[in-house]
Formats: sequence, C-alpha cells, structure tokens
Amino acid sequence: MKRKAEPAAAAATAAPGTEEEDLSIWEDSNNNLKFTPLGSGREVGRSCHVLEFKGKRILLDCGIHPGKEGDELLPFFDRTDLSKIDICLITHFHLDHAASLPYLTERTSFKGQVFMTSCTKAILRLVLKDYVRILAHDPNNPPLYTQEQLTRCLERCQTVGLHQSIEIEGIKITPYLAGHVLGAAMFMLEIAGVRILYTGDYSREDDRHLPGAEIPSGRPDVLIVEATFGVLVHESREEREKRFTDTVEMIVRRGGNCLIPMGALGAVQELLLILEDHWNKNPDLRGINIYHTSRIANEALKVYKAFINVMNAEMRSRQLSDPWNLQNIGSLGENEVIQAPAVVLASPGYLQSGTSRRLFELWCSDRRNGVILAGYSVEGTLAKELSKAGSIKEIESLNGTMLTVDCDIKTITFAAHSDYPGTKSFVDQLRPKNIILVHGEQEQMRKLNADLSRDPTLRELGTNIYRPHNGEPVNLKFQEQRIVKAYGGELVQRRMRTPGTRVAAYLVRQDLTDRFISTEDLRMYTQLKTARVQQRLHIPFHRTFADLREAVGRVFQCEDVDTDDVKRAGSSILVNGHVEVFLQKSLVRLTWDASPSNDMVADALMAILLQAESGMAAVRIGTCCSAHGHEAHSHELDQEAKDEVPGSTEVGLSTVDPSRARATSIADVLKNSETALLLLNLLEERFGTESIRREADHLIITDGRQEARVDLDTKGHVFKFAMLGSLPPAAADDANIKAHDVSSVPHAERTTNMDAATSHDTGGDASKPEDVDPATATATAPAPAPAPVLALPSQVDAAGQTEKEPASDFEIALRETIALAAQTVHPVL
Ligand SMILES: [Zn+2]
Ligand SMILES: [Zn+2]
Repeated sequence: MKRKAEPAAAAATAAPGTEEEDLSIWEDSNNNLKFTPLGSGREVGRSCHVLEFKGKRILLDCGIHPGKEGDELLPFFDRTDLSKIDICLITHFHLDHAASLPYLTERTSFKGQVFMTSCTKAILRLVLKDYVRILAHDPNNPPLYTQEQLTRCLERCQTVGLHQSIEIEGIKITPYLAGHVLGAAMFMLEIAGVRILYTGDYSREDDRHLPGAEIPSGRPDVLIVEATFGVLVHESREEREKRFTDTVEMIVRRGGNCLIPMGALGAVQELLLILEDHWNKNPDLRGINIYHTSRIANEALKVYKAFINVMNAEMRSRQLSDPWNLQNIGSLGENEVIQAPAVVLASPGYLQSGTSRRLFELWCSDRRNGVILAGYSVEGTLAKELSKAGSIKEIESLNGTMLTVDCDIKTITFAAHSDYPGTKSFVDQLRPKNIILVHGEQEQMRKLNADLSRDPTLRELGTNIYRPHNGEPVNLKFQEQRIVKAYGGELVQRRMRTPGTRVAAYLVRQDLTDRFISTEDLRMYTQLKTARVQQRLHIPFHRTFADLREAVGRVFQCEDVDTDDVKRAGSSILVNGHVEVFLQKSLVRLTWDASPSNDMVADALMAILLQAESGMAAVRIGTCCSAHGHEAHSHELDQEAKDEVPGSTEVGLSTVDPSRARATSIADVLKNSETALLLLNLLEERFGTESIRREADHLIITDGRQEARVDLDTKGHVFKFAMLGSLPPAAADDANIKAHDVSSVPHAERTTNMDAATSHDTGGDASKPEDVDPATATATAPAPAPAPVLALPSQVDAAGQTEKEPASDFEIALRETIALAAQTVHPVL
C-alpha cells in the first residue's frame, strides 16, 4: 500500500513527574512513550493508533473511513511494523473502529492478540458480515476481506469483561463502560506504572437503554480522548427526543415517508425504543408503519435481548416483560412495497450505498417526504453533504442520473458522543497529565484544544494537550522514576505502622512491574519457588559443653537453645542467631540454613572447635595423669593403636570414640553396620570387586599399582586410611613400598564428614617428628616390611612444613569414595 500520511509536525515531548507514593525510585533510560495515530488524527473515521512504551506495542482500534474509497478506507498501516504489535484492542463494533480488523489479522503480518468485550464481539460478527456483503456490491470499493477471512479473524479475538483486569506481557488492561453503543468500552492500560486511558467513542449521558460512561479509577498519565463534538453542547435528551418525534409525526401526518438512515446497530435501537413509546402513547399513529429494514435487524435484536444485563437499570428492571419486543416496528419483506406514509429506518447511515441510499433516491424529489439524519455524519459522505443546510439541491444517483432534492432534511443527532460539558467534566475528574485529542474534525478539535488550554484546572495541573495528525507521533517522557509496590501482608503492615522502617524483601521485576515481596509471599505473588537448604556437619569434640560454649563465646554471640530434643539428648547453643551447635557425647553437630553468611559462620566455628580439640590433644600428650579421665584414656588408646600398626602415621585416633580404635573384625562390621556395607558397595562399584581385599580387621584396596588400607570402627566409620605405596610392575616388591601420610586428607572438609579425617590435622603434637622425618614414616604394609625405602621422601621446606607428594588419581578416587559414603550416611539436607 503506497500512501502518505499528512505532514507531521515536530514531535511533541513532555516530562511530567509522578505523584505516586513510591517505595523506591531510580532512573530508567527506556522512558519514551510514543503515540501515533494511523487514522482519526484530526479526522473522524478509520480510528487506529499505535502506542509504544517499554518495548511493547499496542494498537488501539482498527476501523475504516466510511467517507473514503479503495485503500484510503484503511488506516495508515504502513506507518508501523504490524508484525511487532503485541495487542490490538477494539473499543466497540462501529465500522470506523473495527471494520479493518479482519484485514489486519488475515492480510498483514500482524501476529498479536486481539481483545474486546464479549458483547462487542457478538455484535461485530453481525456488523462485519453485513459490511462484507455491502462491499461485495460496491463497485467503488474492492472487498477488503472475505466471509471466511472474517470468520478466521473472529476466532482469533479474545474477550474481556468490563472491570476485569487482564495482564498480557506486562501490559495491564481494564475495560470500563463507555456508553455510546452496546458493549462499548474504554480501556485503561497500565505499563510499568504508567496509566493510559483510551476512551474510544464515549458518552457521559444515560439514554433509554444504556448507562453513561464511567469515570475509571486512577488518574491517567495520558488520556486519549475523542473530540467528535468538540465544543458543541447537546440539547437535553427530552428536548432532542421531542424534536425527533415531532419531525417524524409532521412528515407522516402530511402523507410523506420519513427516512432515517442509520447503521444496523447502535443508536438505531435507541430510536426504535423512542418510536415504540411514541406510537404507544399516540394510538392514532398506529396505522402508520414503522420499518427497520436492515438485513441483520432481527439478528441484532436477538443480541440486544441477550445482553440486557449490560444495559441501564430501567431496561434491566423490565427484563421479564421483554423491553425489546417492539409491537409497532416491523421488518420489510423481500419485495414488499412501502405504502406511504411510513417511517423507515434503513442502513447504512452514511447514505453511500445500500437500502438507505436506494430509498433516498426514490423519495428525495417529493417534498412531502423527509429525511432525519440522526447519526454522526462523516466527512465525504452524502449524509454529511445533506447535513450542511441548504447546500444540496441536486444529487447524482448511483446509476448516474441527476435527481433534485426537494424533501425535508433535518439533523437531530442521536450519536452518543460526549459534548463539551461532558468532555470538560470528564477531564476535570480524571485530572490527566497529558491529553491527546483524536476522532474529531479539524475545526471542532481546534476549538476544543483552545478551550481546554484555557481551562484553569488543567492549567494549574500543567496538563499538556496534543492533537496529532495521522502519522505524527506524540512523544512523552516517562518517567524519571520507577514505582515499586510493596506486596505482602506483614511487609506492608510493618511499613505502614512505622514509616521510615527498613524492610528487607526481594525486589522482583516481573514483566514491566517492580515489586517488593517478602520471602514468605514470593510463592503467592510470583511463580518463583523458594527452597531451604539445611546444612549439617559433625565434628568430633571431646571436651565439655562449657568448654565448647567458652571457645565459641569468645568469638560469637551465643544463646542457649532449649528445645525438647536438646533437653533429652545434650546441650545446644545458637550462634549468631542462625547456626545451631549441638554437643552430644563426643560429637558436635552444626546445623544451619545455607547462606553465604551462615556458611562463613559455620566455617569459623569448625576452626574454633578443631582448635579447641587440638588444645586438648596437646594436654593429652603432655600429661598422662590429667585430671580429665577421658583424655587420659584417649592417650592410652593412642598408644595402643600405634602399637597395633607400628610406625604408621595414623592420625585422628586421639579424637576417635574409644570403641572405634579397637581392632575390629571386618566380617562383623559388614554384618552389623549399614555404613560399612555402603562403603564396601561404593568401593566395589568404583574399583571392582576383585580390587578389594578383606583382611581380618581392615580392607585393602588396590588398582594394580598402588595399595591402600582402610580401617573401620565397629560402627563402620573409617577411622584410618593409609596409602601403602606402589606395587612393583609384575610381582610385589617390598623394596618399593611408599608410605603416605594421611595428613593430606583435606582438613575437616564439610562434605567429607569423615570424623577421623576432620580432626587428624590437629590430633597430635603440632611438632610431631614423624610428620617431617621420612625415616619414621613406615608403611602399614600387610606383608612384613622391614626397612622400607621411600620412593619419594617427603620434603621439608624452609619453614619446617612438610611438602607432600601430590596424591595419585587412585588416592583421590579412594578419598572421594570414602567421603561419599560418609556424606550419604550424614546427608547434607
Ligand atoms: Zn462509534
Ligand atoms: Zn467513532
């Protein structure tokens, strides 16, 4: 389609602030709202606008221009990329707001969703079906779409109830009653906290069957409002109705036919109610026929009967007596000849073609007849020409002959659009920050713009008013601030109670809305799921609870925990409010909810506890006759264990439960301990069954090149692990056995949970000579190994620290498996 929009003026901008009560605000760079009329910019007809904000595009209405021909009928679709439109909203069923919709959905790249009220959808089906038929017989206009395309289009349309807020991709849409015609809605949009109200066609006045437009709640940042009647003031409804019935009566009483060209649905139903009432009150008129000739008149009536619940209170109260059962109105048969005098309401309203045009041409030359123009006459139509008083004496008929116009022509408009007082009070109540005038002829729009600009209320508010041409964008800056709403009962209440209080919550950006939501409420207001990861760590600890409390209390704030569990089994403190330290027998259990800060506290506690243990070990080594019986006993056990495996560098024995340190029959352990069985399974799985050798009181694991020894206590826990060294390539060669210090086991690794390992590092004298002297580090080989030669003796660095040979893959795999077994037994929840 090659068409040009009218010249565009410079883009207008405004930078209104926001008066929202914000919880938090910050700059947002993507803050330009762009509004472009593709039709009905300084004209009436082909209503269609694009609204762009925050990457979203919304099409407001999609009509045709009844006064134009060919592709001039359509809005300036080439002014936007239709494939990028997210949503199209249709305010009501009138052709100038909806008749391009099937063209949009079926013949362009548009892929978005379409919304309208269910009532509009029901009536639109009829109206557009009729429109396709009219276009099919119109030589000047190629059909825009077929009946099939119309059907497909309507299948795509979704409905939304009045006052029902829906949210699509961050765009919140709420329809409000617009008056005007049955089902008509104005749409309040909310995008990223900015409110835009598009009125479509609206009327504040109640009529016989419809309530007037509502005032939507919430102050709009942008009001896009129709300006059809500009600064005109309507006569009162009673006066208008009287003038109408008087005119009809005058024409029929003199024997003439009264033609009322009207669309098939809308204001015509209002006129039918007025005529029905008037005929009922004037029995002498009953002999005069009233016809409603539209092809869809009967179907239309059914729809009106079905949607009586959205009509005004008066109609709803008469629901049972069927107010749409009109006794004085008839329909015109196929070949029925109208006997004068008669009243005929015929479509279309603009007299461009169809029945109304045919009857007009038939009757216009007879001065007894009369025409009442009761709808809004769009520029470029015959109805509009006739409405210009005295301007037409002659017309060219559709078949080319000239006809004189002698009949009476009166304009008594029932088009339900807001007049100046209506617009003024609407605007005053809404107090919009920006007004964009659309759907009005140049002159009326100019006057309305001038009058509103002088309005003291709007001047005080600093409201900007725009009236863009078709294709001319209005750019509005929104906004320097973002609005963040606080959600959740407790969160909001706390804030309400003490303003200025700090509130910790999650900042959730969903689509285009920012919200503060407390953890507990995340599930309710978002689709986010929350999970609590609880960590648990066991550390051997052989001192008293008082020792523990003192060691921890030196660094952290502690409070006693007094749960039933604790009372039963041991003693417990809560460190920093989050990490529970629980001592039972010789084992400390740390429990905490995983979080960076809690994890750090737990790590620190582990260090403190290990240090406390090491202090205890030092005492043990130094004084066998310590007052602490348990410690003395431990020391003895140390000696005992060392004797048992001469020369080995086993560690952690001093911290092991006494029962563990005894030589244990592997067969018994495997029979009685699930822990041991699990470890064996894991080892077999990893290294193969043939790689595990069950000795009397320990396990030997080999990969063919190296061997390792694992000792289990009665409960199946590993209390000793030692690498025995490399095996010779072919047969075992004792000369090459290497001892490997267990102290390369990661220190107190949380994931390992190997009780012995977690404390091995500090389990003995800090300056243990065997740690640094290769000569004493002998292998715990199963075979007698006199004078073993270390393949790779440990190195001692300048600081006296042992530098150990890196662990082999086999050793690492073994440690991992042991750790895994320990972890499975003490699962990290
Ligand atoms: Zn309308
Ligand atoms: Zn309109």
